[in-house]
Amino acid sequence: MKIIVATKNAGKLREFKAILPEYEILSMEDIGIDVDVDEDADTFEGNAMKKATEIMKVCGEITIADDSGLVVDALNGEPGVYSARYSGEHGNDTENNLLVLKKMENETNRKAKFVSAVAAAFPDGSHFCVTGEFHGEIDYEMKGTGGFGYDCIFYLPEYGQTSAEISAEKKNRISHRAKALQKLKIKLEEILKD
Ligand code: IMP
Repeated sequence: MKIIVATKNAGKLREFKAILPEYEILSMEDIGIDVDVDEDADTFEGNAMKKATEIMKVCGEITIADDSGLVVDALNGEPGVYSARYSGEHGNDTENNLLVLKKMENETNRKAKFVSAVAAAFPDGSHFCVTGEFHGEIDYEMKGTGGFGYDCIFYLPEYGQTSAEISAEKKNRISHRAKALQKLKIKLEEILKD
């Protein structure tokens, strides 16, 4: 079964492929589509749904999209849906991480979570969206080289490591995206068996 993933983020694509090995996961680049979807919704679910449906309309195949981000308690939920562009420069992970560390300098409440909303859009016009959360804390400095985005400042107290220090296999078992994609898998199996 072929599934198109509406993302240009190589880190996300790697995780989709690892978590959904039973499907043929193809990127937009793999099928020659270069479309930018304006992520202007104010919820993760809204953006995921928009990306999945717009790309499905272009390619005519089952399309899934993830909208995800970091939600920090002490920053009133920031960076939230602005996670990818928090420092103003789209996709600059280092600047984004430095900005969060700076804003959290004098904070004692370090609680944070990653949220992933994964939407699936089908050529018959139907769609659904599932979510997953991954709880941790904001570290005081960047640690580790694995993962992507904010992983190097996302501290997991139960492991004593950031999500950039744990193995990719472990992250893909416990992360927000892993949880959302497990739910997606169950729904997809139900829908595709009919
Ligand atoms: P978008 O979903 O493409 O709008 O971007 C999500 C942004 O959230 C990414 O660019 C990362 O900065 C951050 N993010 C989402 N998931 C993760 C993750 O698993 N690890 C680290 N950062 C993440």
